Amino acid sequence: MNKTITFIVTKDCQLNCKYCYLVGKNSDEIMTFDIAKKAIDYILNNKDFLKYDTVSFDFIGGEPTLEIDLIDRISDYLKTEMFRLNHPWFNKYMFDFTTNGLLYNSKKVQLYIEKNRNHIDITITIDGTKRKHDINRVYKDGRGSYDDVVKNIPLWLSQFPQCSTKVTISSEDIPYIKESVIHIINLGIKTIHINCVFENVWKEGDDLLFENQLVSLGDYLIDNNLYDKIECAFFNDFIGKPLPIQKNNNWCGAGRMLSIDAKGNFYPCTRFAQYSLRDKRSASNVRWRAAVPGAKARTTTQRRPTPCLNEPRPSALCTRQG
Ligand code: SF4
Repeated sequence: MNKTITFIVTKDCQLNCKYCYLVGKNSDEIMTFDIAKKAIDYILNNKDFLKYDTVSFDFIGGEPTLEIDLIDRISDYLKTEMFRLNHPWFNKYMFDFTTNGLLYNSKKVQLYIEKNRNHIDITITIDGTKRKHDINRVYKDGRGSYDDVVKNIPLWLSQFPQCSTKVTISSEDIPYIKESVIHIINLGIKTIHINCVFENVWKEGDDLLFENQLVSLGDYLIDNNLYDKIECAFFNDFIGKPLPIQKNNNWCGAGRMLSIDAKGNFYPCTRFAQYSLRDKRSASNVRWRAAVPGAKARTTTQRRPTPCLNEPRPSALCTRQG
């Protein structure tokens, strides 16, 4: 079983994506090394975590690469401490990022990648064609960021040939879903995670537009013999099939996805942190102890007691925007 431990290293970002989940972007709330060190010391010396065989240390923001010096220091400390403690996670860890890709070719980011070569996984978010990407993924002055991201894709693909990207769909860009997935395939990316904006941005009639795009895209993948070469979250094999009894769990990863913010608060998942909750109250430290067992208890069949073998499963891909 894998544990995900997320360091929310900054709430700053060069972009101002219209669908960004992050409320209250600022350049003040940056994690200090001291806070990260205390969290690491607690986690690596706590027996509760030993039931997890492997671990993913996830660095998110805002834009995590803005704090690459801090991330480098945290990564070095994690490695030396896991070695010193003879911790079972030593050599069973990964450092994961989802980045907007703007700093990908910078010297510091490239040095970090070189240094952590076999233990790193980086996702660059590209939303599709220029016109789709630039609808939402804009700088603070409103300029689209597509051109600055796409120029780094060849370098990224050469370093991580099996990489995946993450497309976010909002109401405005539904008409460009098909062309965007095709564009990403043509860039050379074979795994495409897609999720819809969780927030309430949807309009009447979006469902039909969405369906039309899916049908048309599905036809394209079949007609071009791509259906078994491309992994596209819209068409995952399990969708539409009955749920195997051994998979009767809760899709929510809360509790397995510990997140730590700049003040050292612990959350069961980044989505419990105040910065993504808008007007709802966050659930950190003590309150999440009450929240998580409840969330864990609601398995798929408990939430939907009437069996319906033909009912497609909702997206299991509760991924963050980033
Ligand atoms: S979605 Fe990601 S890249 Fe876009 S503004 Fe938010 S943190 Fe930055």
